[in-house]
Parts: sequence; structure tokens; C-alpha cells
Amino acid sequence: MGSSSNTNTPVLDNFWMPFTANRQFKAAPRLLASAEGMYYTDVDGNKVLDGTAGLWCVNAGHGRRRIAEAVERQLRTMDYAPTFQMGHPIAFDFAAKLAAIAPGGAGAKLDRVFFTGSGSESVDTALKIAIAYQRAIGQGTRTRIIGREKGYHGVGFGGISVGGLVNNRRVFPQIPADHLRHTLDIERNGFSKGLPTHGVELAEDLERLVALHGAETIAAVIVEPMAGSAGVILPPKGYLDRLRAIADKYGILLIFDEVITGFGRLGTPFATEYFGVVPDLVTTAKGLTNGAIPMGAVFASRKIHDGLMTGPENQIELFHGYTYSGHPVASAAGIATLEIYEEEGLLTRAAELAAHWQESLHSLKGLPHVVDIRNLGLVGAIELAPRGGAPGTRAYDVFVDCFQKGLLIRVTGDIIALSPPLIIEKDEIGQIVSILGEALKRAA
Ligand code: PMP
Repeated sequence: MGSSSNTNTPVLDNFWMPFTANRQFKAAPRLLASAEGMYYTDVDGNKVLDGTAGLWCVNAGHGRRRIAEAVERQLRTMDYAPTFQMGHPIAFDFAAKLAAIAPGGAGAKLDRVFFTGSGSESVDTALKIAIAYQRAIGQGTRTRIIGREKGYHGVGFGGISVGGLVNNRRVFPQIPADHLRHTLDIERNGFSKGLPTHGVELAEDLERLVALHGAETIAAVIVEPMAGSAGVILPPKGYLDRLRAIADKYGILLIFDEVITGFGRLGTPFATEYFGVVPDLVTTAKGLTNGAIPMGAVFASRKIHDGLMTGPENQIELFHGYTYSGHPVASAAGIATLEIYEEEGLLTRAAELAAHWQESLHSLKGLPHVVDIRNLGLVGAIELAPRGGAPGTRAYDVFVDCFQKGLLIRVTGDIIALSPPLIIEKDEIGQIVSILGEALKRAA
């Protein structure tokens, strides 16, 4: 690490940072140097409680030796091998282990796994599988995908097309897509604990889009079961069941983007089980490898998979894949991650903590500018009233303040999002609420 001076700050000019106001950041950088368990340590030696599991990915906490050892072992054994027309046992082993916990529940498991390198790649892969499947079953006019306002599905051209965050899409071209109305309604659902009660009728919006475009043009609808990046938007009770029913009525596939909710965030292995709704395809990444090595996976139903395994046997069924699909080192990290999740019961731990988490977060109600608090599993959001004329700045100030006091939170506009590692203990939940509460008071 090159040092610009005798401080702990490296040269900052060359790394063009993602999703960051580069000039603002580089004027006052926040640099993390190491991580263990629930904590980061910054370059100046200050401990920072991780209230966000990195970027919703370090579900088993930081510095897991078992993952490090598995990665090192695999790197020494075989660093890389292709999976185009070739294979290696570890990617098959990982897929078979994932199949055992695959979303869908008994009898309907989505146990065919396509590996990618990230959440964005998982989304683009799922969209392509959906369109290819429709074509394979004689529905080749179905090329349109329906997303949802405020949805986040990564940054590939497919993902920004179905995503509904205008900043992600305004300057780029898109594939044909349309959007359901979003379900955030703090007028009717403000300070709901868990799932909001109002808004199931918003699922009927799919009927509007079918009437607008014709079912014969629509391949699939993709939603996050719980939208994370837009600031934690929960589905109203019954909404996802209704969406499934309408999609079925018109031969439209349902895709759940579980890049955030996958691997225990809501207290079940996948949100699919939490809601009792089985989609046709599920996209994942993040918690798949505990964030340690980049990797994503798409889970497909057997119906979708087998529908594409047609045509001459010597022909490639799906002309799609990545250099790093099923990467051996990422697969090794993933297997070790699954072992930790299983041995420590982490895929259901959020369910044990959810009630305590909920009451702790809602104790912040009444603090200045707090206009909503939302929670589900081990996810939380605190929405602030925007500062007049400068939306987003109040939450950003809280974010900086919390960091200086030793807590990492995440902000999206004026919404604070929390998603700690699933290993969190009650006293650490107490620390999150206390540091955040003090910062909110100061922001007043
Ligand atoms: N889908 C969802 C629901 C996400 O939350 C994210 C990332 N936050 C992505 C896709 C994109 O994942 P990645 O950043 O790994 O490409």
C-alpha cells in the first residue's frame, strides 16, 4: 500500500470508487483495515461495529478461519479451471450441497444451480434463462420483463432495465421492460412491525401491465421479496402470493431476487420459505460465500431447467456463461460458508432474534425527524424527514457521525438501513441502537 505521507492514508487518486461521491470521499476518507467477528478496525485502529454485514453479505461475521483455510487449500490445489466443456468436482459438490437447502421447500426445490460472479450477473442470467425458456416452450414472443418501481437488480443492462431506481438507469439504454408500482406507503403503513398490513391490492398492478402489453409479450416478472437497496421496502401481507397467482394465470414466470434475502437474512434460508411462495427462478450472491470471494448463483426449478435441456444432445442448451462460473476457489469458500451456516444454525438465527431486534429498533420512534421504522428478520430501516432543500443530507450526516462513534450503517437518500451479521448478540443490538439514537439526537 503506497502511502501519501506519514499518515495511514494511501494514495487515493487512482481507484475510481463505485457508487461513491469520489471527490467528497477523497477529501475525508473512511478506510477499513481489518475485520473480525462483528467488528471492523479502521486504519487508525478504531473499532467499528458492523451494522450492515459489509454490504448485506458477511452473514457469518468477519474473519472466518474455516473459509480462509478452504480458500488457501483450494488455491494450492487448483487455482482455476474452466467450466466450459470442462469441469471440476468442487463446483458440482457445491451445487449439490446448495440443492439440499435450495429455495422452494420439499417437493418444489429449485435445485438446478447456475453459477455467476455477482448479483448483477445472477440477475442478467435469470432474465436470459426466463426468455430462453419461454422460447423453448414455443412462447418466443415473450421477451418483455416486468420489474417494480424502486427495485434494485444490480447494474448490468438487464438489471438496470428491470430495476426501478431512476439514478441507475437514466443515462443508459435499456431492454424492453415495464414496472409494477412500488409498495412503500408510510402514510398507511408507517411504523409497522414486520410486514405491513395495507397494500395487497398493489399486486393487481400486474393485471394492468398484462392489459397494456399483452400476456403473450411478457416472459417474467422479477421482484425482490423484500427490497433492500431502495431503503428496505417490505411486501404487504399477501402481496407475493397474489403476484404468484396472477403470473400463473398468464403463463408469466416469477423471479425472486434474493441477493440480499438469501442465506438467512429473514430467519429462513431464503425469503421464499419465509413467505411460502415458490418462484420459478431465484437469484443469489453475497451470503453465498459470506462475501469472502465474489460469487453468485441462480436457482432454477426443474421445469425451467428440463425445458431447456432439449434439442440435439451435442448442442449447447443455453449459450451463456462466465469465465468464473463455478470458480473453484469461490466454490471452496461457498462450501465452507454453508458448513458454518449449518453448524451454527445461522440460516434460522434471525428468527430467534427478530422480536428483540424489532423492539430495539422501534424504541427509536419519537426521536427527531424519524418518520418511519421498518423491520423484518434481521433487517431494519429508519426513515428520516429530508432536510428542507437538501434531501439525503440528514441521513448522510448521521452515517458519518455513527462511523466516527464506531458504528457502520448504510444510507439510501434519507433512509438508514441496518442488516448486521447473523452472529450478532443482544448487547451488540443494544450498541447499534444506542449509537444510532445519540446520532439522531445530534442530527436534530
Ligand atoms: N440484486 C439485489 C437485490 C441486490 O441487493 C444487489 C446488490 N445490492 C444486486 C442484485 C447486485 O449485486 P452485485 O452488486 O453483486 O452485482
